[in-house]
Amino acid sequence: MEKLKTQIVVIAGGPSGMSAAVQAAEDGAEVIVLEKAGITGGAANMGMGPLGIGTRYQQEQMIDITVEKAFNMFMEYTHYNVDARLVKRYFEQSAETIEWLEDMGVEFEGAFRYFPQSEATWHIVKTGNKIGPRAAGAMNRALFQRAQELGVKIMLETVGKKILKTDGRVTGVLAQKAGGEEFEIACDAAIICTGGAGANKELIKEEIGLEQGRELFNFAIPGIVGDGLRMAWEAGADHLPVRIEQACDLGGGEEAAAGVINIFKQPNLLVNKFGKRVMNEEYMQNTTYLGNLANHQKDKTVYSIVDASIVKAYVKNGVDVTSLVNPETDVSDFYDGMDRLLENGTKNFFRADSIEELAAQLGIEPEALADTVDEYNDYCDSRDEEFFKNYRYLKKLRKAPYYAAAIHPGGYGTVGGIRINENCEVCDKEFMPIPGLYAAGADSCNIYEDSYMFLLPGNSMGYAVNTGRIAGMEAAEYIETV
Ligand SMILES: Cc1cc2nc3c(=O)[nH]c(=O)nc-3n(C[C@H](O)[C@H](O)[C@H](O)COP(=O)(O)OP(=O)(O)OC[C@H]3O[C@@H](n4cnc5c(N)ncnc54)[C@H](O)[C@@H]3O)c2cc1C
Repeated sequence: MEKLKTQIVVIAGGPSGMSAAVQAAEDGAEVIVLEKAGITGGAANMGMGPLGIGTRYQQEQMIDITVEKAFNMFMEYTHYNVDARLVKRYFEQSAETIEWLEDMGVEFEGAFRYFPQSEATWHIVKTGNKIGPRAAGAMNRALFQRAQELGVKIMLETVGKKILKTDGRVTGVLAQKAGGEEFEIACDAAIICTGGAGANKELIKEEIGLEQGRELFNFAIPGIVGDGLRMAWEAGADHLPVRIEQACDLGGGEEAAAGVINIFKQPNLLVNKFGKRVMNEEYMQNTTYLGNLANHQKDKTVYSIVDASIVKAYVKNGVDVTSLVNPETDVSDFYDGMDRLLENGTKNFFRADSIEELAAQLGIEPEALADTVDEYNDYCDSRDEEFFKNYRYLKKLRKAPYYAAAIHPGGYGTVGGIRINENCEVCDKEFMPIPGLYAAGADSCNIYEDSYMFLLPGNSMGYAVNTGRIAGMEAAEYIETV
């Protein structure tokens, strides 16, 4: 068997792994990165940017968000069910991390909110094109280049398989090339960064209890199947709960035209399987809240409903609510998009000539839905006495055809499972670090408790980049002591 030797092996080249590798190399360590895919960047190639708190962008934009405020918000949101020392270290480092990324050539558009109730902590990466999904690919390319400049050996299409230990401390990693050939890398420290288990249906069912494709429509990025979790647990790590970084899914994973998605994501009338309203629909923009809400309904489903006159107004004037992820106000492809879905036998999008017929399609008692619509139309003339929705979003449903779309729990993958401390050292059941073993990013992200905190957007990539750096600096220090 081929044998290599280095000081630190980083298992996976997503944002956490590449940040760990660059930081460790900057601190003088010799590093090898093993990446299963043909490119680095992981899920973050689809995203837009990391969190930063107290950055120069926020100061320039006169945005008042401090580490103290964010820390207190976060700890209250999670009911102190998380590692406060790790949260503090991550937030405190986050502004300097934005500068660290800039020093390697990453540019940012500024600091943004995800939706109105959130704080402007989302640092969107500049690409030269207009702001939109996949912007963070530019950050991943900069991390890759910086790693190469520093002499980090990046082995693509190579899988980390097992942590090797001698006398309780890490002494190597077993890896496998694309052709199936296994080889060992002797090392003093290993950093696990494999991004969770979002594409592992069985693990999600076992750990979280939800069936992917029926109860949950999670982003399933191929190759992210929990390898790091398994490796860490086998090496003696404490097995903490694995959770979904839950968001909402509109349309059960079916491909739909942008205008269709955009119209159904507006603060429309939202009902459950009993035809009852379930929330102030203004808060639908917080995808975590909407995902949680859907999770607590019968069949884990709610429906967004509009009528012909609402659609006509949106098509003519543009939609009311946009975000950086869905920036388009133009929804003129709605009608064609709905036709296509219906021709293809959609299970999640509906059109009917009356409220009663729509109810029958949705499996709702027709009278119940008709009552809710009548009541809702009355609120449109006065005020929303049920959930206090802003009058700007109260629009009557009175003209056929009526349209609906199903919303279910979705997610950005799994988070958590490996116990770490604030130094990103992997710990056993006794909370004792396993010498030489570190974890960062989604594999180690136990800080959300039951709900992703979208009130501080960029929190997921921010956690990945910052814990990657922490793991890299701590591992580089540790190898000096071995
Ligand atoms: C559509 C989308 C948009 C998003 N937008 C944002 C955003 O704007 N801001 C934000 O904060 N968060 C965002 N996120 C979440 C964010 O991208 C993730 O939290 C982040 O990428 C996690 O980083 P990571 O390094 O832990 O794992 P990942 O980015 O998931 O990378 C894991 C890597 O591990 C590799 N791998 C797996 N197993 C092995 C193995 N055995 N050996 C070697 N390599 C292996 C995979 O190939 C992959 O490259 C988004 C997520 C999605 C899906």
